[in-house]
Amino acid sequence: MTERTLSIIKPDATRRNLTGKINAVIEEAGLRIVGQRRIRMSRAQAEAFYGIHKEKPFFGELVEFMTSGPVVVQVLEGEGAVSRYREVMGATNPANAAPGTIRQLYAESFTGNSVHGSDSPENARDEISQFFTEADIVG
Ligand code: GDP
Repeated sequence: MTERTLSIIKPDATRRNLTGKINAVIEEAGLRIVGQRRIRMSRAQAEAFYGIHKEKPFFGELVEFMTSGPVVVQVLEGEGAVSRYREVMGATNPANAAPGTIRQLYAESFTGNSVHGSDSPENARDEISQFFTEADIVG
């Protein structure tokens, strides 16, 4: 089924000019970038986005990091896009990321792991709506 997922190219990757290389991996995996915008996340936006983790020990560092530089928010579309993009990203901890995945290729650390991708179709809809209106998405 054609699906959409939210991707974020994180500050560690924008800082190293990796947007194009990451987009190439995404497109080669058969996912289409149907919405894309470079923004600076506000603290409120980052706290809301990662609200599910607010009791975790890494929450403060994560919010600090996500607001430390520009990010590229993207809507990806394709067959089973949510799970497909999770495969393409690789494991959350880059030490465990499979060869050829974005995190294995580019991540700097657990926090600086280069990309975000939604983990379910429901969360994808919610996350997309935090950054995009339908008019910003051209399939
Ligand atoms: P994701 O869906 O693969 O991005 O992983 P999660 O939603 O579980 O976590 C969100 C982000 O928080 C991850 O991408 C990591 O950057 C960071 N994170 C998660 N778990 C840890 C951890 O145990 N230590 C640190 N330092 N960061 C973590």
